[in-house]
Amino acid sequence: MLKWILGIAGALVVVAAAAGWWLFVGFSHAPKAAAGLMDIDQWRSMVREGGGTLPTEVRILEVGRDSAPMVAARAGAWGGKWETSYNSVQLVYPDKTIVIGGALDRLTSEGMVAAPDDWSFDDAAYEQLTAAMLRADQVLITHEHLDHVMAIARHPQPDALAPRLVLNAPQIAALPLFAIGELAPALRDLAPRLDGSVQLVAPGVVAIPVPGHTAGSQLFFITLENGHEYLMIGDIVWTMTSLDELVMRPVFTQYAVIDPNEDRAAVKDQIRALHDLWEANPEVTLFPSHDRTWLEMLEQEGLISWGFQD
Ligand SMILES: [Zn+2]
Ligand SMILES: [Zn+2]
Repeated sequence: MLKWILGIAGALVVVAAAAGWWLFVGFSHAPKAAAGLMDIDQWRSMVREGGGTLPTEVRILEVGRDSAPMVAARAGAWGGKWETSYNSVQLVYPDKTIVIGGALDRLTSEGMVAAPDDWSFDDAAYEQLTAAMLRADQVLITHEHLDHVMAIARHPQPDALAPRLVLNAPQIAALPLFAIGELAPALRDLAPRLDGSVQLVAPGVVAIPVPGHTAGSQLFFITLENGHEYLMIGDIVWTMTSLDELVMRPVFTQYAVIDPNEDRAAVKDQIRALHDLWEANPEVTLFPSHDRTWLEMLEQEGLISWGFQD
């Protein structure tokens, strides 16, 4: 009898260990190659041929902060802490601005607190964001998740905002999910202004579709007047250490947080492609949406500035 119990207990331990490995460690490594997925030469020639007056500054307005164990953002990363930023990006031109990202509002932020001691929401910053969108020449997003669209789906002046929105079809299709009540007609009836191809959207700004994390996900390749290049990578990774280690979010995070589930094979390919692109072009500044430690470092190096220009 004792032998039996020990046998069953042993089997349960093995099953639990296997499940834990699957949920938090396994199936998260990028492949050895993803050739041809990201063509920086094409983006550079589009910027060159497009000409025009290029932006002079990349600014980031943070509306919320939080933290979580690093293992939530990178499979197998035990022990570390992931300092999370929720923000929106402003590209400043001599005569105009572009806003990328709708961030989240207080209601959404309060609904997704991970670490109460590190969580905060800045109401004044959120108000600055909705106002800055109405001054912007264009408003775009990296993708259609709740923490990237709320200042659009819940904007206080949808009619004034709508003509500035430059979205793709999957992004527009997702907006009704995030409205409080009915989505404003001006937002419901938007026509896509991005067609799913690599497109120059403004001088110095190329949108690059990368379906995977969501159907409407895209990168932005940004070239400033001074020649410095940036690649906004949205939520392909949540921590830049994922690009160093070539490891994505764990399976657990996908089931717990991401709905509908992301295409993990596509995201793994993209991580490999970004890793290789960065290795070959170390002068390009890559930045994801939510890695606060990384954004702080870029600010210290003078590559981004916190806060939007009025
Ligand atoms: Zn996302
Ligand atoms: Zn996000």
